[in-house]
Amino acid sequence: MVAPVVELREISKHFGEGATRVDALRSVSLDIYPGTVIGLRGPSGSGKSTLLNVIGCILEPNRGSMKLSGELVYDNRWLRSDLRGLRLEKIGFIFQSHNLLPFLNAWENVAIARILAGAAAPEAEARALELLTYLGIERRKDAMPGQLSGGEAQRVAIARALANDPRIVLADEPTAALDSQRAGAVMDLLRKVAVEHGTAVIVVTHDEKIFNRFDHIFALRDGALETDRDRAA
Ligand code: ADP
Ligand code: MG
Repeated sequence: MVAPVVELREISKHFGEGATRVDALRSVSLDIYPGTVIGLRGPSGSGKSTLLNVIGCILEPNRGSMKLSGELVYDNRWLRSDLRGLRLEKIGFIFQSHNLLPFLNAWENVAIARILAGAAAPEAEARALELLTYLGIERRKDAMPGQLSGGEAQRVAIARALANDPRIVLADEPTAALDSQRAGAVMDLLRKVAVEHGTAVIVVTHDEKIFNRFDHIFALRDGALETDRDRAA
C-alpha cells in the first residue's frame, strides 16, 4: 500500500465576508500519490491557484485538514509554527513566469534555494550543478536570467524547485508562456522527476495541448471538485 503524499479532507477557503464573500474552495477532498503527475484544471476563477497555494502552505484555509508526506500540517489551524521551514522541506514551486532572481546566474539561482534551507554553499553549489545537468541545461549555468530563452529559464526554475529534494512539486501554468514543443519538453522533465524521484507533481493548467500528459486530472468548478457524474451531466 502506497500512502498519498498529499491528503486533503474537506478543505474550504473563502475570501471576504458578507456580501463580498467569495467561496474559493468548497470542501475539497483529494489524495495524490507519489510518482504521479496530476493536472488541476477549471475555468478562470474556479479556485485552482487557491488550491495550489493551500497545498503549498502559502495560504491558510478556513477549515478542513491536510496531510503532506504523512504529516498532519493543518487541522482547522496550522499545526506547525515554521511554515517557511515546512515549505522549504516539503515543497518545490514552479510559476508561470520563471521568477528567477535577475541578479544571480542560473547556477546561483538554484544553489540559493538550498542555501536558504540551511545547506553550506559548496554543497549547495555541487547539488545545483547536478540538477542543472539532470535537466540538460548545465551549459547555461553562467548565464543570467535575462540571457535565457523562455524554455531554458523554465528548466532552471524546475532545477530550483528540486533544490531541496521536495516530495511535492507545485506548478501554476508552467507551460503557459511556451510554444507546444517547449511545453512538451517541460512536461517530459516533470514526468522524469516524478518517475525517478517518486515526487508528486501537481500542475495547474488550462493548456489543452498537455491534458494527455497527466495520470489524473482534477477539475474545479466554483471552488468544488467536479465528479465524473457532473461531467456527464
Ligand atoms: P483560478 O486560479 O482558478 O483562476 P483563483 O484560485 O485565483 O482561481 O480564485 C478563486 C476565486 O477566489 C476567484 O473568485 C478570485 O477572485 C477569488 N480570490 C482569489 N484570491 C483572492 C484574494 N486574495 N482576495 C479576494 N479574492 C480572491
Ligand atoms: Mg490561477
